[in-house]
Amino acid sequence: MVENTDLSFNIPDGLLDEIQQNIENLIRDFDVPEENKLEVIKQINYIYTRTKYLSITDELTGLSNRRYFENCFEKEFLRTQRYNNKLTLVMFDIDYFKSVNDTYGHQCGDYVLKQIANAALQTFRKTDTVFRFGGEEFVVILTETDIDQASIPLERFRKTVETLAPVFENKTVDITVSIGACQYNDSFKTKEEFLQKTDEALYEAKNSGRNKTVFYKN
Ligand code: GH3
Ligand code: MG
Ligand code: MG
Repeated sequence: MVENTDLSFNIPDGLLDEIQQNIENLIRDFDVPEENKLEVIKQINYIYTRTKYLSITDELTGLSNRRYFENCFEKEFLRTQRYNNKLTLVMFDIDYFKSVNDTYGHQCGDYVLKQIANAALQTFRKTDTVFRFGGEEFVVILTETDIDQASIPLERFRKTVETLAPVFENKTVDITVSIGACQYNDSFKTKEEFLQKTDEALYEAKNSGRNKTVFYKN
């Protein structure tokens, strides 16, 4: 029995590259006039790059999507386990977002999601990746960063959102986020455990009043 029906989720990283190479080889051997081959290969490369981009991108916000997160998180987790470098995982979730939709409409909710995504992209470093994890929940992988170093951009981000005041159809929307953060620790045997601890920190931020950051204590 097939457990996971979302097969696209399981495509190994190198497989798309392999398919692209096979198509290119086929064209080289195929009966395409020599002078056109380069152009055909260029077009395939374009389609391939575009498809790959779409497969890892969240359509609404333009952030990296959940699928790409699973991929990157696994790599960073293994790298940290092996080389013992610093790694901090962050989850944040918009506070009372359901009431934004209920009060101002779904389109306004979408607009707010995009504004928050932009704020996150501007706050974190280029080497950090911000992902839309699902709905109004986001994840950030902070590479080479311990919890003390993470606290600075996280507090900056929380404040940025608090004062963002996005305006949609002449109405100002007050918005805040709750943030959970956790530094990698040797005791984490799996990446799921690491994610779980980060989620627990977020849960605590929600339960202790929202619009705050909670750091997981090992
Ligand atoms: P909490 O502070 O506990 O996080 O409360 P909340 O209202 O943010 O949480 P809840 O889980 O009750 O509601 C999440 C809402 O997010 C409900 C759902 O409609 C909305 N949402 C999820 N994805 C999208 C989206 O893509 N666009 C819009 N507009 N809304 C979305
Ligand atoms: Mg929420
Ligand atoms: Mg949520």
